[in-house]
Amino acid sequence: MTRPTLGTLDKPGTVVVNLADSLLDEGRLIITDNFYTSVLLAEYLYGRKTDLCEVTDKSESVNIQKNISMHFLEQFDRQNGKIQRKRCHGCYSSLREDGQLSAEEAGKKAKKVNTHCKVCGHAYCLICYNKIH
Ligand SMILES: [Zn+2]
Ligand SMILES: [Zn+2]
Repeated sequence: MTRPTLGTLDKPGTVVVNLADSLLDEGRLIITDNFYTSVLLAEYLYGRKTDLCEVTDKSESVNIQKNISMHFLEQFDRQNGKIQRKRCHGCYSSLREDGQLSAEEAGKKAKKVNTHCKVCGHAYCLICYNKIH
């Protein structure tokens, strides 16, 4: 494999190398944020006995993960300025579970709500939401 030369590096990589040039060939570690990190740059620096270490914002990725699994009851987005209402999934299911009502009847009886849990993907009234979560 041929090592990349300075000429083959992308712009940010060249910037890093220019900045760090006096530090290269000394077995050092360079830390960059991910804007400056590229495979080519890492290989180039490796060829000059310098390790490249990427710093990523760990706290940010943790927050994103949390949001993905966070259940909360929120209102539907309005459509054409109108508040949407849907049948509460919890009420509907419990009405159907009794076996007394047809799907149509249960649908009519179940509470209509304008709130839902995006993670579950169902509309819930507050009572059902608290029951299920
Ligand atoms: Zn309900
Ligand atoms: Zn949920």
